[in-house]
Amino acid sequence: MYAQVIVDVPTMQTNRPYTYRIPTPILEILRRGMRVVVPFGKGNRFVQGFVVDIKEDAQQTEQLKEIVQVVEMNPVLNDELLKLASWLAEYNFAFQISVLQTMLPNVMRAKYGKVLRLLEPDQLRDWPQIALLFSDRGEIPFDSDNVDSELLPQLLKLQKKHVIEIGYLVKNRAKVKMVNVLKPIKDVSFYQKQLQQLRPSAVKQARLLTFLLQAPQKFVPVKDVINRHHLDYAIIKQVENKGWLVQSQIESYRIPKLQTPVQPSQPLPLNDEQKQAYTAIIANVVQPKTQTFLLEGVTGSGKTEVYLQSIAQALAVGKTALMLVPEITLTPQMVRRVKSRFGDDVAVMHSGLSDGERYDEWRRVQRGEVHVVVGARSAIFAPLTNIGLIIIDEEHETSYKQDDNPRYHARDVAQWRVDYYGATLLLGSATPSLESRARAQKGVYQLLSLTKRATQGVLPTTEIVDMRESIKFNNDDVLSPQLLDSMQEKLDRQEQIVLMLNRRGYANFIICRDCGYTPRCVNCDVALTVHKDVGRLICHYCGYNELIPHQCKICGSKRIRQFGTGTQKVVEHLKEVLPQARVLRMDVDTTRKKGAVDKLLTSFGNHEADILLGTQMIAKGLDFPDVTLVGILNADTTLTLPDFRASERTFQLLTQVSGRAGRAQKPGHVILQTFNPEHYAIQLAKDQDYEAFYHQEMALRHAWHYTPYYFTIQIKFAHEQVDKAAKFAFETTNWLKGIVEKDTIMLGPAPSTISRIKNKYYYRVVIKYRFDQHLMQALTELMHKGQQLQRQGVTIMIDREPVNFI
Ligand code: ADP
Ligand code: ZN
Ligand code: ZN
Repeated sequence: MYAQVIVDVPTMQTNRPYTYRIPTPILEILRRGMRVVVPFGKGNRFVQGFVVDIKEDAQQTEQLKEIVQVVEMNPVLNDELLKLASWLAEYNFAFQISVLQTMLPNVMRAKYGKVLRLLEPDQLRDWPQIALLFSDRGEIPFDSDNVDSELLPQLLKLQKKHVIEIGYLVKNRAKVKMVNVLKPIKDVSFYQKQLQQLRPSAVKQARLLTFLLQAPQKFVPVKDVINRHHLDYAIIKQVENKGWLVQSQIESYRIPKLQTPVQPSQPLPLNDEQKQAYTAIIANVVQPKTQTFLLEGVTGSGKTEVYLQSIAQALAVGKTALMLVPEITLTPQMVRRVKSRFGDDVAVMHSGLSDGERYDEWRRVQRGEVHVVVGARSAIFAPLTNIGLIIIDEEHETSYKQDDNPRYHARDVAQWRVDYYGATLLLGSATPSLESRARAQKGVYQLLSLTKRATQGVLPTTEIVDMRESIKFNNDDVLSPQLLDSMQEKLDRQEQIVLMLNRRGYANFIICRDCGYTPRCVNCDVALTVHKDVGRLICHYCGYNELIPHQCKICGSKRIRQFGTGTQKVVEHLKEVLPQARVLRMDVDTTRKKGAVDKLLTSFGNHEADILLGTQMIAKGLDFPDVTLVGILNADTTLTLPDFRASERTFQLLTQVSGRAGRAQKPGHVILQTFNPEHYAIQLAKDQDYEAFYHQEMALRHAWHYTPYYFTIQIKFAHEQVDKAAKFAFETTNWLKGIVEKDTIMLGPAPSTISRIKNKYYYRVVIKYRFDQHLMQALTELMHKGQQLQRQGVTIMIDREPVNFI
């Protein structure tokens, strides 16, 4: 028998599986979807691989190598996920191995190590240092921790003489956590008798016997017994030695915890609009029929309640459900809401978990022990079976698209999975992506709308402040008099305020007021960003950093200072103008620690602060009843992004953040500070008028041949020499021009917006097309050619429907 194996060789990626012999002892246990260790290439190299097929015959059987090891006794990928991987690799011009690895928890990625093996111990007599290194061991790890570099010449000589050899091994990092457990083995009367005979001084034994007397006949964690009954390990051991109890070890899951316990919640009675949406969704969930719904609901319209009740319905008919939320901020609040409804039947998957937690949550899902999964982008690969419903909340969010290989969009994966299971896909948003809204227009998706807030409340009122005028008035480019007055009023009434400083597309750099000099990264074509907390200028692309200068490097002027405003600066400013206000800051710096977001939000929810000041990470999902004012300090920075979606992003962000105000009984107010008060994205965000924005933006996209009228592909070329990057970009573009359809449009090649990153130069070409099978074939070919080009130092990146045009 032969196995088809996709191998993990980063420098030689290919979508072709390799054929291996299956040795007899492995034959009985080997199945598709298992991880194996196989030899690859010359030398003693071993790599990890995934078995994608098992066959009776192989085309060519001579010289085939054998599988050496099976990593675990159960397949880690089922048939559905193997098929999905193969489709996704093709669709996104990616290699199957990178897709397979993305689907699984990090710890399942192989880690490779080297070992030194001693072949002829007797020969080491004349090599005392090496003999000491081995110290009677036949094999030792070969890395800089263990082996001094001074010994390398000697080792090489010995390798030539075949006294030692260098071996490669595959380490399995997926570790199961085990805990000690114990259980009584005698009957109640036995323990009673022993208890009566105890010396009065043997208090601990008495406590343990009392416990054993009442304990259930099953294993319980030793640690719990020790803590709860004030015992110690010695006493347990003593009693075990007498044969009165048994100890063992069992697996224990590392389940991610929230900062405070979750209170159970009951379904709310739905209002008419919610009921209509819910009825349509569940009618589909109970059938084995694929359908995608777009739930367009204004902020606070109760979309989440519709999600939760739809999930309950999927569970009621014996199916499973998967819910995606955008990364980080939404996760704790949403996880709380889902857990409050479904308790332990929920697994959580996102990048904020530890490796162990991720691995264990994944196993709980894979073993069918939970039926609901909530998580960020990569949770779309959760190994649920029998899926009835997939929900993507805030479906317009760019975090659903992965920026690295494989460059997949979670929405596409979700669509594939619901097609496979005959399931329901539910996309929800107050501001759907134009692509999704257009599909609903064409009837590809079914549109459901929620036009009113769920809590009887009304949408907040919005006031636009023209900062060009305001600055003249009080010479303050951070807080307008209108915003200050409004904040004071809310503080007096003990209501809460959310302030957003939009950092996207926003330059927070240093500039010399005399000569205009700005410190830039030495490796990349970008200005360095100010980080006051560490006193350094940092490059966000490569991490290069230097001290914040006091003097201009060019003209020596001391008038070199920060341009633009960071969250820290706003906090300082607030202290001056509103000294009584308690401010919480939420940005990348204050949320780096695990659980920090949950802690911050819990504290704001408990009224431990009056103002929550944050970057765009506060825009979504927050649901605090006492927030009655939202201030947007700089509404327009996203407008200047070099991206055809700049208006869409601005509209989405402003609508989302405005939606944080007045979510309960008290009415909300929004103040929107801008230098572009007449821009349509800003005007329509003021009215929270998504439909008007959709129509206006669609007209522009039509005129400019952009998504959703055309599909988009971006190809990037990177090289250390600028002329080489350009050469490959032009050659490839010319080649493609001879292949593509007539109505396919190619823009470029041209240097990327950031033309140099980490000392590599970037060129890009953007392709807009409608139907172009030739283009798809050519791109697949290009991807495979990329492997050879890599050896000439060129990196080619093919990105289908890119969301990032940097
Ligand atoms: P969205 O997800 O659309 O922004 P949420 O689901 O967060 O809205 O709902 C906003 C608020 O309305 C929440 O506090 C929620 O508990 C409440 N809510 C939702 N549905 C109902 C309902 N049917 N009756 C009463 N309150 C509701
Ligand atoms: Zn200067
Ligand atoms: Zn850099």
